[in-house]
Amino acid sequence: MPVLHEELQEIYDEVLLRNAGETEFHQAVHEVLDSLAPVVAKHPAYTDAAVIRRLCEPERQIIFRVAWVDDSGQVQINRGFRVEFNSALGPYKGGLRFHPTVNVGIVKFLGFEQTFKNSLTGMPIGGGKGGSDFDPKGRSDAEVMRFCQAFMTELYRHIGEHTDVPAGDIGVGGREIGYLFGQYKRITNRFESGVLTGKGLAWGGSQVRTEATGYGVVFFVDELLRTRGEGFEGKKVIVSGSGNVALYAIEKVQQLGGTVIACSDSSGYIVDEAGIDLELLKAVKEQRRARISCYADERGRSARFVEDGSVWNVPCDIALPCATQNELNGRDAAVLVRNGCTVVAEGANMPCTPEAARVFGEAKVGFAPGKAANAGGVATSALEMQQNASRDSWSFEYTEERLAEIMRGVHDRTLATADEYGSPGNYVVGANIAGFIQVADAMLA
Ligand code: GLU
Repeated sequence: MPVLHEELQEIYDEVLLRNAGETEFHQAVHEVLDSLAPVVAKHPAYTDAAVIRRLCEPERQIIFRVAWVDDSGQVQINRGFRVEFNSALGPYKGGLRFHPTVNVGIVKFLGFEQTFKNSLTGMPIGGGKGGSDFDPKGRSDAEVMRFCQAFMTELYRHIGEHTDVPAGDIGVGGREIGYLFGQYKRITNRFESGVLTGKGLAWGGSQVRTEATGYGVVFFVDELLRTRGEGFEGKKVIVSGSGNVALYAIEKVQQLGGTVIACSDSSGYIVDEAGIDLELLKAVKEQRRARISCYADERGRSARFVEDGSVWNVPCDIALPCATQNELNGRDAAVLVRNGCTVVAEGANMPCTPEAARVFGEAKVGFAPGKAANAGGVATSALEMQQNASRDSWSFEYTEERLAEIMRGVHDRTLATADEYGSPGNYVVGANIAGFIQVADAMLA
């Protein structure tokens, strides 16, 4: 990793010492600190009040045991986490991830990122994240339900509509939020709709929340393209993943006139030169929860499945990594650049390694970091909280327009801040500084 500005390097060294072995957290902190040198120089008050050092330490970290009974009657043990990172701007807000790779370092990296992302949206939400090393793959509905109930049996005492408001992330969708909400309601005897977001439409959910992260990424890219006098029309797009973020990014690209020719899952990727048939893809991934190879089998001649390969080998104009952290490395970035890709926007959290980001920077690729580009999900969660607080529910059209407006705001704020701090066009610097300043000022106040 490149050495940081002196005072920031000291903060980073402290983070390394205090959080040994948590490599993803180190990476996320380093990336932000790397952007903050001009801020430190301009605003000594932040240093005097140790704002950056405070921001690197979560306000509260909760780790708990989750014991639940599987379908064969066996007791299973998992570990649950909730990291309440920063509440300067509002209640802790951020998703829950259920995946076998989840550990405290992963949750901390996500909570740290979330704090800046949430700030960037301009909505009154602090940052937090949680989850478990529970693997929902291959588990029955009843097992997922019992796990969620056991998880909430501990989590409920730490959350609340004014305290901490979880939502979904990888492995946690509408089904899991339903089981979690049911258990919260059962234990507390409160229909407190604002305690979780991503709820079903009939019981306090918001229109567009399901689509929001994917749609938001594409709205962001549309703004980026507009600064170049371009649009999606005629552009070839590739997407990694085929989960919630990927599916709705594909949908919005298609609506705006672009062609998505590839996407992936953990088994490999598909290429469909005729453009992905979204209805078929949704049937395979959302309804049947099957492998992506089924798409190629059923689609016929225009599509092929490549087992275990890298989707980044497919030539494109725009790449949208929408799967998971560090899924796109320096080598992949070089391949994308060589094949003519000019825009990369992160739908997932930190999918590009620092090396990949460097390659994009040097090649003048328009690179939109996740904390700006994928902020539409959490922003729509904040809209869900607004609706819950006023016991209201808005139309799809109205909510989507609010989301589009928020993404335009995130884009413009990011670009203006990059300009102001001497890095015109650099979305990474702009997002880090703009996200930071708002939280830092609230902490100072
Ligand atoms: N998990 C999403 C994210 O990474 C959304 C969180 C939320 O809606 O609270 O931003």
